[in-house]
This record gives sequence, structure tokens and C-alpha cells, in this order.
Amino acid sequence: MPTAIITGASRGIGKATAKLFASAGWDLLLIARDNESLKSLSSDLVNLGRIIRYKSIDLSEPDNIEPGITELLSQGLTPQVLINNAGVAWTGELLSMSLNEWQWLFQMNLTSVFQVCAAVVPVMRSSGGIVINVSSHAARNTFPQWGSYCVSKAALASFTKSLAEEERKHSIRACTLTLGAVNSSLWDSQTVQGEFDRKAMLSVDEVAQTLLYLAEQPATQLVEDLTLMPAAGAF
Ligand code: NAP
Repeated sequence: MPTAIITGASRGIGKATAKLFASAGWDLLLIARDNESLKSLSSDLVNLGRIIRYKSIDLSEPDNIEPGITELLSQGLTPQVLINNAGVAWTGELLSMSLNEWQWLFQMNLTSVFQVCAAVVPVMRSSGGIVINVSSHAARNTFPQWGSYCVSKAALASFTKSLAEEERKHSIRACTLTLGAVNSSLWDSQTVQGEFDRKAMLSVDEVAQTLLYLAEQPATQLVEDLTLMPAAGAF
């Protein structure tokens, strides 16, 4: 059976993606901090006949990542698809951000992706596969109060292109899914301020369908980036 590893699987886009992939026949390795949510999701997906392994890893703590992933990968499943979905947002003017807040945001949106790739991609090389990094239209645009998030996602997009170039020789492809606003718990984060029309946003299920399409591309092709926007446009 094909196997995918998904970060940020406890809620939002990652959880919807885990459910859709499991119903499409994928076995899964799931990561987030919330162990109870991962446990409950895992038992639902096992009832669909899938093999699921999960591990609570705090991706904001650099020292946790390599040991946590190594333990997860020792549980008998080898992924062909890596979805780096976990991410955070912070709103406020760039220069009002503390250094700790800046480092937390970049650890989550960029450095943890580098660390997860470093731990997972080498085990994917023997059979080939694809890394899908969840980016944002903030990577290509700037919005007042969202500067640090824009910078982090722009760097993630560049990281992805660089990874794709270097890993091509190992039959590993890498792409971004660039998203407009999605109705998820990200908009309820303590660090995000703003009133937006949640009903005009993409649904997490629409995003999950797009991730499944990217994951199931034939090994002979690569959609290098897919941009999915709500019909209402950018906001
Ligand atoms: P979400 O509902 O807030 O979910 C975020 C996920 O990341 C959760 O599963 C959370 O799990 C995990 N996470 C957060 N902090 C973590 C940590 N320290 N360690 C490990 N996991 C952590 O957000 P979402 O909208 O689904 O976001 C998923 C991705 O889509 C992000 O990369 C985001 O930037 C991107 N995106 C979202 C939108 C949008 O409008 N929502 C638009 C464009 C791009 P735990 O809390 O259990 O750790």
C-alpha cells in the first residue's frame, strides 16, 4: 500500500488530508503535538482498514525532531510521500515582533521543514517519492501585519525548488501547494488577529483533494507548484 507522512495532522488541513488519504487506500504516519487528537484520528482510520502510526512531536523544538521522526520511521512503514503541512501564523508589524517570536515562526514554517526533510527524504530515496510543502499566496504577495509569515512562506517556496533540483538524481520530486485562505483553526490562533469571511474561504476538504492529486501524480511528472485560491479571490 502507498504510505504518506503528514505533519500537522491533528486538525485543520492535515486532519482532513489524513482522512481523505486513508479512505483512498493510503497507510499513514502522522505528526502533531496533540497526542489525544492523533490517537483518536488514528483509531478512526484503522477502522477503515489502514495501518496508521503516529507520534507527538513539537516541531518548534529543534532537538525533538530527528529523534521523534527516527522513532516513527522505525515502526514498519516507509513513506513515498512527505507532506510538510504543519505551520503557524503571527500577525503584527514586522518590527514589533520579538526575536523569540520571529525564531518560533521560522522554526515552524521553514527550519522544521528542513529538519523533517533531512530525517525522512533519505529513507524515501530507494523507491523514489514526492515532498509536498504547504505554502501560501503570502509567499508571493505582501500584506500589512503578515510580513513575517510572508517571508517564511517565500523562503519555504525557495527551499522547495532547491530541494527538487538536488533530489532529482534520487528520483525524489518536490513541489509546493500554494493556498489562498482556508477555513481552518489557523484563523482562531491566539497569534492571529483579523476578521475575515470564513465562508468565503476554501474548505479543508478542497485542500485535501488537491493534496491527494499532487501525491498521486505519476512518477514521470511534477506539478512544481499548484496554486489553489478561493473563488472569492485573495484576502
Ligand atoms: P491549523 O488548523 O492551525 O493546523 C495546524 C497544524 O499544525 C495542527 O495540526 C497543529 O497541531 C500543527 N502544529 C502547530 N504547531 C505545532 C508544533 N509546534 N509542533 C507540531 N505541530 C504543530 O492550520 P491549517 O490552516 O490547517 O494550516 C496548515 C498549513 O496550511 C500551514 O502550513 C499554513 O501556513 C498553511 N496555509 C493555511 C492557510 C489558511 O488560510 N488556513 C492558507 C495558506 C496556507 P498541534 O496543535 O496538535 O501541534
